[in-house]
Amino acid sequence: MTATPQMMRIMALSINTAARAGTIIRDVMQRGNLGIVEKEGKDDLQTEADRSAQQCIIASLSRKFPNVRVIGEEGDSNLDVKAEWLVTEENNDFLTNCCPQEWLEVKEEEFVVWVDPLDGTSEYTQGLLEHVTVLIGVAVKGRAVGGVIYQPYYKQSNGDLGRTIWGLIGLGTGGFEPKTPPKGQMIVTTTRSHSTPLVQQALDALSPTEVIKVGGAGYKVIQLLEGKAHAYIFASPGCKRWDTCAPEAVLEAYGGTLTDLAGVHYSYSSDVEYKNRMGVLATIPGLSHADLAAKVPYKIIETLKS
Ligand code: AMP
Ligand code: MG
Ligand code: MG
Repeated sequence: MTATPQMMRIMALSINTAARAGTIIRDVMQRGNLGIVEKEGKDDLQTEADRSAQQCIIASLSRKFPNVRVIGEEGDSNLDVKAEWLVTEENNDFLTNCCPQEWLEVKEEEFVVWVDPLDGTSEYTQGLLEHVTVLIGVAVKGRAVGGVIYQPYYKQSNGDLGRTIWGLIGLGTGGFEPKTPPKGQMIVTTTRSHSTPLVQQALDALSPTEVIKVGGAGYKVIQLLEGKAHAYIFASPGCKRWDTCAPEAVLEAYGGTLTDLAGVHYSYSSDVEYKNRMGVLATIPGLSHADLAAKVPYKIIETLKS
């Protein structure tokens, strides 16, 4: 028997780890003491849930794959975590899939994993819990190719909480019901807590028929996957690589596109700057991403560049 490709193992461990991080996020909320601190500015919060979920994810991935570079939003993490936070089992359902040819030979040291342990922290502190996601993005040669999005407060039809959405280029996606938004409309999703005049101008440039303001890059891409919106636009340097790596990989495995506002893919190599300086533009499959990017006024691109 040949060994399971590293790509499949890293994705399978990420799937189980994201769900474990989700239980930590629910536990912190249930205990009620969020331990909020402000990071760089008033628009950037961190809670006990962000810190603990990150420790769980970084320690679990790093213990099993010591040569993979793992970069998390909340900085360096102690790998000496409580035993109950260490995930060692790879997801068996995922491992029943065949590894796409292009990932068969990728070595451990060629992976970079971008972790946002809790995307949508503003919404988490405000009780808008469906907006919250755990994001684990897998990059190879600078490209976002695999992604796991765990939604800890998604209500299943049987009453259970939480669901895992995944995507891998060449294999496809899982964990959600794909839907296409209504034809003849342009429903656009954008930030609800980090708007600026520039963000609004870019939104207006797409002439939306409806605007959906929700929190988190993960939850906005879920709007595209589930047919609630056609596009996601954010003309701001506020998102970082860990916000977009997993959503980009899932959306692109689904056939959509996520780039900066100029239509250029971000690099997810370990040596890049973390800020997505040129904003975010994402579209569903079947919509011309280039046509939409062309609607963004040049002045907006210039402002982001400067
Ligand atoms: P949003 O669409 O506003 O929910 O933002 C998506 C992600 O980018 C979240 O993780 C935010 O924390 C982050 N983000 C966006 N804008 C900013 C900002 N101005 N300062 C800090 N983080 C931001
Ligand atoms: Mg985030
Ligand atoms: Mg976060």
